[in-house]
Amino acid sequence: MKIEKIVAHPISFDLGKEFWMSREPYRTASSIIVQVFTDDGVVGLGQIHGRPMKEIVEILGLMETLIKGMDAMAHEAVWAKLFSLTHSRAGTNLDKDKGQPHFGAGKRPQILAALAGIDIALWDIKGKALQTPVWRLLGGTDPLVYAYASGGYYEQGESPLKVIDEMASYVEMGYTAVKMKCGGTDLKGDIARISGVREAIGPNTKLMLDANLGYTLDEATAAIEAFEEFDIFWFEEPIYWYDGIRAVGKLAQRTRVPIAGGESQMTAWEARDLVDMGGVRYMQFDATRFGGLTELIRVANYCLVHDVQFVPHHDPQIHGHPVCAMRNGFGLETFPNKERDPLWDTLFSLKPEIKDSFVRLNEQPGLGFDIDWSTAKKFAA
Ligand SMILES: [Mg+2]
Repeated sequence: MKIEKIVAHPISFDLGKEFWMSREPYRTASSIIVQVFTDDGVVGLGQIHGRPMKEIVEILGLMETLIKGMDAMAHEAVWAKLFSLTHSRAGTNLDKDKGQPHFGAGKRPQILAALAGIDIALWDIKGKALQTPVWRLLGGTDPLVYAYASGGYYEQGESPLKVIDEMASYVEMGYTAVKMKCGGTDLKGDIARISGVREAIGPNTKLMLDANLGYTLDEATAAIEAFEEFDIFWFEEPIYWYDGIRAVGKLAQRTRVPIAGGESQMTAWEARDLVDMGGVRYMQFDATRFGGLTELIRVANYCLVHDVQFVPHHDPQIHGHPVCAMRNGFGLETFPNKERDPLWDTLFSLKPEIKDSFVRLNEQPGLGFDIDWSTAKKFAA
């Protein structure tokens, strides 16, 4: 079974308002759907989260010429060939017409995103060709995977205390763990939000905080000292991007609250450093952003032998498969707020079910999700 063709479908939903993290707003929900066609008629589906989408789509076109005719089951060989664009002469055709290319022509994140989409589609092909769900191929036995509710943004035009009702509504839906943003206002303001949420969700619900790379080391230390009394399950991406590993390691030594991170790490090597030097106890590597499921599995296995729990960022329809199978698979991130995540309700014609703090994967061959192509067409970017 050989790879024949790659087709990319970039889509974008305007959310109609801004959902702020500590330093950045979410204004659109965007994704690139990737189809990998084989000469056997099996079509694999992948999904990418990355920007700029136009550049990623262009790179997918170049990648098609590189892997056309390769064995669609050879995910490691395909991965290595595409990854070499970032560190070998193979990458010198990128942006050839725009002057001097240099190790991926400054497009490493986009190359790794395009690679992610193809790799995920190859795993879907593997499952479809073998008539088996990917979670079974990876060795999983129980398709029920723990999940938490993610939200708690600073919403444009809303009181910062709206988060209290929002988090309580997730508990009412059956979630036993909820995550909210922090670092988007001053410490006093965040203490009011977090203490209000803890009171509303009761003592038995796990509460995670996500700073989205929003503090210096000293600010993060002061923040977690202030938040600790509200029984924080983990403190996620606490420190600005430019010191996002070494300073995180120092913070990990200063606080008893476990540190989470990994959605910003582009490779297994970066994720390894976050484990070794950053002291994270919950790893959130995202296969749809960088490197695909092949890279994610490497990260998860490294975490297993370093006593780090694995809980990937976003996209339970894809990440559910390895989490279901891995011994250190802690759970999945889900976004119950339809305003913030309209894709979950509208983009899929087939997907796993989410109920009572669990994602239930299905028995369909491959990754077990399919696209509603009329929605994809309607929101084509
Ligand atoms: Mg996060």
